Amino acid sequence: MIDVAILEEPIKEVLTIKNYINGEWVESESEKILDVVNPATQKVLAKVPVSTSRELDEAVKAAREAFERWRETPPLARARCLFRLKELLEEHFEELSRIQTMEHGKTIDESRGETRRGIENVEVATGIPSLMQGYLSEDIAVGMDEFAYRQPIGVFGIIAPFNFPFMVPLWFAPYAIATGNCIIIKPSSEVPISQSKLAELAEEAGIPPGVWNVINGGREVVSAMLEHPDIDGICFVGSTPTGRFIYKKCGETGKRVIAQCGAKNFLLVMPDAVLDRTIAACMTSFYGNTGQRCLSGANLVIVGEGLNEHEFNAFYDKVVKAFVEAASKIRVGYGLDERVQMGPLRDKEKKQRLVSYIEKGISEGAKLMLDGRNVKLIGDWPHDAFLNPTVFTEVTPDMFIGREELFGPVASIMRARNFDEAIEMIHSNPYGNASSIFTQSGKWAREFVYRVKTGGVGINVGIVAPMAFFPFPGKKQSFFGVLHGQRESIDFFTDRKVVIQRWF
Ligand code: NAD
Repeated sequence: MIDVAILEEPIKEVLTIKNYINGEWVESESEKILDVVNPATQKVLAKVPVSTSRELDEAVKAAREAFERWRETPPLARARCLFRLKELLEEHFEELSRIQTMEHGKTIDESRGETRRGIENVEVATGIPSLMQGYLSEDIAVGMDEFAYRQPIGVFGIIAPFNFPFMVPLWFAPYAIATGNCIIIKPSSEVPISQSKLAELAEEAGIPPGVWNVINGGREVVSAMLEHPDIDGICFVGSTPTGRFIYKKCGETGKRVIAQCGAKNFLLVMPDAVLDRTIAACMTSFYGNTGQRCLSGANLVIVGEGLNEHEFNAFYDKVVKAFVEAASKIRVGYGLDERVQMGPLRDKEKKQRLVSYIEKGISEGAKLMLDGRNVKLIGDWPHDAFLNPTVFTEVTPDMFIGREELFGPVASIMRARNFDEAIEMIHSNPYGNASSIFTQSGKWAREFVYRVKTGGVGINVGIVAPMAFFPFPGKKQSFFGVLHGQRESIDFFTDRKVVIQRWF
């Protein structure tokens, strides 16, 4: 039975997802078609093709041809297209957000946040006329000048993960096209609808045919992108094994590459942390986006710095109690119900994977304090992809659940006798995306920022998601290649040309 509190669904009938090549919406020639299922309702939303390498070839050809004209288009004119796109995104803000909730499962507020963060990248890229400027030195020798300017490179492939269906391609696309390049986006075939809608708006914004293309598919399309001599660079966001493979392949074929990958983020709670606010921040960090976020909290480390054993045990118990109580109160259900605070996992396979991780945690000797396998929902939805918040305590960094990326609403609580031990725990992990410390002490906050080997660092902040005008760094197995972010992206999407001139 459908709950009356559900917002109106923007997708009312099963969509046929097409490829967008050279300004045309083209039905795929592929016979392999996948269902896109709403994880909360289990209803089919769309049919998406697993396109072929031949279709990718067509998109590359279109992009390569469009590049010759697009690169000559003055940056200000390119920026005008982005201004129009920004306006259209605002007009369709709620529809775009609801589509994300339907195809991915996240709550409507999380989707609205994702839409906003996506739009911010378009806004920032509109500054391209000045961002792209070069520089000049007069008289490097008598009568001789030297200048450096930026030129677009050509065609970029953008390969996206399932967890931010709308925003992730917008981490790259606005900067790529603002600098005069053309793009081919390959969305995750689990969540292709947002990218179809985005391409429709890009078309309406007047972005010329061939500049913005979308090819739906899987490994075949990715492999073809990596091998294609007319693709100059790849922006990849996804899991570490895939990212590592893509990075290596781009090295072999001489392509520029950004590969942002998996994570296992540690959050430290020091004895002087403001507990209620720390716990509130942890709830969004561990359970926001149903834990399917590369910046999600995964391991909560309660640190006994300066405490004797008795005091440390009391502090540990207090934090655990507050954490479990708050996690057990999170309202789970269909994200289009505005009362809901956490949606389902993306699909039943992901839920099954998480259930097997929970079993592994139990068998490794961790203590299950809150068992999300007992599904309790707001509304009468099939349980297939739902898992409630789960909490383990007495986890150690070498256990599977303490070491590997689980990518779901499962928190592992650990103890560290002191600050040094906590830092050592973080550094023993293969990932290095982000970490946080909750403390009132300037000394420990500074020490943490100074020493910790992660790309993002939070101080009393549980999700270190950089704004569009800051870089998105990661270390170790979380990141390969070049950074993205406003300044870094301009570098990534352009070549420097240096000219020395003398007139006789
Ligand atoms: P994934 O690696 O399974 O898929 C990502 C993309 O690569 C998809 O488009 C997919 O079709 C393609 N792909 C998958 N396997 C492939 C293969 N063997 N060969 C070629 N292409 C392949 O990742 P996912 O499950 O969609 O996304 C979740 C992962 O993404 C998590 O590990 C998460 O931490 C990571 N992520 C990282 C960031 C970041 O900024 N570091 C942001 C979001 C997500």
